Amino acid sequence: MKTVSEAPRIWVTTILFAATALVALVLVPLYGIVHGFQWQAWAAFAVYGALCGLSITAGYHRLWSHRTYEAHWSLRWLFALFGAASLQNSILVWSSGHRRHHRHVDDNDHDPYSAKRGFWFSHIGWMLRDYPSGKVDFDNAKDLQRDKIVMFQHNHYLAITLTMNIGLPLLLGIWSGDIIGMMLLAGVLRIVVNHHTTFFINSLAHIWGRRPYTDENTARDNDLLAFFTFGEGYHNYHHIFQTDYRNGIRWYQWDPTKWLIKTASWVGLARNLKTVPAMRIQRAMLDMQFKRAEQKLQQSSHRDGWRKLLEQEAQQFSAALGEWKELQSRRYENARERLLAKWESAAIRTRVKELEYSLKMQRKRLAIMMDQFHQSPAPAA
Ligand SMILES: [Zn+2]
Ligand SMILES: [Zn+2]
Repeated sequence: MKTVSEAPRIWVTTILFAATALVALVLVPLYGIVHGFQWQAWAAFAVYGALCGLSITAGYHRLWSHRTYEAHWSLRWLFALFGAASLQNSILVWSSGHRRHHRHVDDNDHDPYSAKRGFWFSHIGWMLRDYPSGKVDFDNAKDLQRDKIVMFQHNHYLAITLTMNIGLPLLLGIWSGDIIGMMLLAGVLRIVVNHHTTFFINSLAHIWGRRPYTDENTARDNDLLAFFTFGEGYHNYHHIFQTDYRNGIRWYQWDPTKWLIKTASWVGLARNLKTVPAMRIQRAMLDMQFKRAEQKLQQSSHRDGWRKLLEQEAQQFSAALGEWKELQSRRYENARERLLAKWESAAIRTRVKELEYSLKMQRKRLAIMMDQFHQSPAPAA
């Protein structure tokens, strides 16, 4: 017998996940070999899959869970419908749970999908049993309960999700002339791919990857994962700066969700896109670099020379931060009193840009220092 502490199984989700995975792994290839799939079914799989995936990332996640921007009602309807099609529960349940995940990240008792409980649990296990950590509580989602579209979707979730998952592929199948093929690809395979790519954010993105911004939690940046998850793989950045509508902040980082939101803002469907000031991002990265440099020096026997250099850098860093804070407060106070002359505001902006740049250069210097430290344990005179 299992211990009494084992949480009771949730059969609906267990059967749903098992059945869809089984069909995707067995029936889909079998049908492909015996009968073959039409291109229409593959196209529907791709387009429908992208619509569902983006509704979760741009809608459920960045819009409703984190309020990183505001969206026009038409866009919210689209996200609500295709989000329901992704079979990941209603916006209200999903976002409330996700807010708890951020607030209590890695806390096994309160984070509904804490990565500290292992890969399986954070990937899918947390949904298969009625764990106390997964208790649904909308106390942290009062704003969402005031959103009519969110509540409509929540109250009619079953009808919407059945229509989207069975009705729509059925219609497409009738149109293309191969109902089974369409149901298998646009219905089941799409669901399974959508499910597991989203689940990877809770599991793999907390296990595998870099931590350039913070090591206070398990979240990682992972380019490969970002590619398969519409940009959500930059999870280390996301956990420290969750109010930013971007996850991949560099132009070359793969973040289609960010591009979608930005494009929507150009055509008037989104506004108030929130970003974190570049200076705060630089500060977080430098903090991490200093931390890592310190750790390396701890292990070195020639640490005195290096420590001096590092201390100089640290002093510059804190001076730059001090000046930045002062500039911020000056800007804030003046704006409040409406005293800010245009030229002064421009001067402050320029200085902030300079400080940003100086931090960026400092990060480069530190990286070179650490490289040299590896090659020769004593610094050049
Ligand atoms: Zn999040
Ligand atoms: Zn996370």
